[in-house]
Amino acid sequence: MPYSDDAVRLSRSEIEQMQVQLLRSTLERAGATRAYRSRLGGVSPNDIQHPEDVRRLPLTTKEQLREGQPDGFLAVEQRDVVRMHYSSGTTGVATAVYHTRGDLDRWARCVARGMLAAGVTDEDVFQNMMGYGLFTGGLGFHYAGELLGCMTIPASSGNTERQIHLMQTFGSTVLHIIPSYALRVLHICGRRGIDPREDLRVRVIFLGGEPHTEELRRRIEEGFGASVYNCYGLSEMCGPGVAMDCAEQNGLHVCDDHYLVEVLDPDSLEPAEPGRPGELVITTLRREAMPLIRYRTRDIAHVIPGDCPCGSRHTRISRIEGRTDDMLVVKGVNVYPIQIERALLGIDEVGNNYVITIDRPEDLDRMVVAVELTQEAFSDDMRALNALRERIARRLHTELDIGVEVELHEPGALPVSDGKAVRVIDNRARETGA
Ligand SMILES: [Zn+2]
Repeated sequence: MPYSDDAVRLSRSEIEQMQVQLLRSTLERAGATRAYRSRLGGVSPNDIQHPEDVRRLPLTTKEQLREGQPDGFLAVEQRDVVRMHYSSGTTGVATAVYHTRGDLDRWARCVARGMLAAGVTDEDVFQNMMGYGLFTGGLGFHYAGELLGCMTIPASSGNTERQIHLMQTFGSTVLHIIPSYALRVLHICGRRGIDPREDLRVRVIFLGGEPHTEELRRRIEEGFGASVYNCYGLSEMCGPGVAMDCAEQNGLHVCDDHYLVEVLDPDSLEPAEPGRPGELVITTLRREAMPLIRYRTRDIAHVIPGDCPCGSRHTRISRIEGRTDDMLVVKGVNVYPIQIERALLGIDEVGNNYVITIDRPEDLDRMVVAVELTQEAFSDDMRALNALRERIARRLHTELDIGVEVELHEPGALPVSDGKAVRVIDNRARETGA
């Protein structure tokens, strides 16, 4: 029997009824932890009559999660925990997230739902190119691939030559990969004279691990000649599989029967107006080991109104439009790196790699965007290059509302990484000694 998932056929009212029941049981479980015991403000499970009643509960921040280390949020006996992941801690101390056997099973089913929606079956060869280990990207997809019956290759990240060798030898049809690494693989294929569209069999790619633009998704689609799907998650909520694109590729369906998602204005912490971006705040609905209530993800996105043609009535969210952590203040203006990517990749001559450097010579912010050009656009014609540089600078000025210096480089000249890309180098903190 092929794998199936009935939850995608739930009506909106069935989903909401389910959420009320699950929120009540979550409240009960969380209330027994040291971290939440005294913090729930006297709200009891019976006070929850509607999913919106979640707003009566307190928010949980990353700082609180850190303070509760190592086990303040643990809601089960240690013997019932079968795995721990440790978040990457890009913005400070890492935090542990615990899972029971049931949690791992539900996690795999959430990811499998998204893979199924993209048409993945037991006929597929799934090459999982995400880091295995404490990072959740690798193992999170691994068990979903096996659940669907794919021949699952735990390739992990890095070693690009071997990755390409695996794709060629075993005819990998499905990939899971960090977007910037997908570009790197395309670059190496180009150098080896391999045309992924002709020489590889990849037909479905799942992107995760870092926010990216629609322009970048399309470039990867064109490069591989495959359908590319976005996947959202964070280690505090298991990992990948909180929300994934369906076949329509018009927004990511949240697994509403596992996660209750709110979009809040990050300043007022009131619900953002429908369709307006705000911070994703997520409550786990079925987690046993470590239930989290109204966790502030710091990811900015919006809810997409209207019904999806695919038939699923699970909430649809936009791609991540920025992270409150990533926001840069340059010359007094708020800048999200993803805005820069959107502007750059909308220009045909711009290649697939760029680095943003900010420093503060003589007390004035200066932002330099170093850009690789495509092979076709790079030339010795200084006049043409100057004109192109001015065009890119104007485009960035329009997008960001601040002046930016642009440097042009030949393809392959800028540093690359096999993991998450380092796109922003902010030297200001060091210079001011802050
Ligand atoms: Zn859909």
